[in-house]
Amino acid sequence: MSDCIFCKIINKEIPSQTVYENEQIIVIKDIQPAAPVHLLVIPKRHIDNICDSKLFEAGTGISEAIIKGIQEVTQKLGLRENGFRVIVNYGKDAGEAVPHLHWHIVAGRQFGWPPG
Ligand code: AMP
Ligand code: ZN
Repeated sequence: MSDCIFCKIINKEIPSQTVYENEQIIVIKDIQPAAPVHLLVIPKRHIDNICDSKLFEAGTGISEAIIKGIQEVTQKLGLRENGFRVIVNYGKDAGEAVPHLHWHIVAGRQFGWPPG
């Protein structure tokens, strides 16, 4: 999508700090980190959000690619020893700001539960 900030990052029209990339996903550092480690796992195909039916269209395998990406990155960056949290925000109550599906990975400090 032409006016989507994450599509622009994927197309290298906007710079980002990329920590991992493959055919289906890109993992970047969040520009306003909420924790010492704050990454965004973003599918390269524009999918509006986690409720978008395109996520499960036959043969795309995007959800698997996202989970695989989380496995790769948490191992590569050594995040498993102390733990990490994965978050997807949807809609106004969750504070979703960018309408291109992305999964947050946060790590590097103790997180409260329930979330604030
Ligand atoms: P959400 O509230 O789940 O939609 O989260 C959107 C996230 O994208 C926020 O944590 C922002 O800090 C982050 N963000 C917005 N623009 C950029 C950017 N250009 N590069 C990296 N992260 C960004
Ligand atoms: Zn997009």
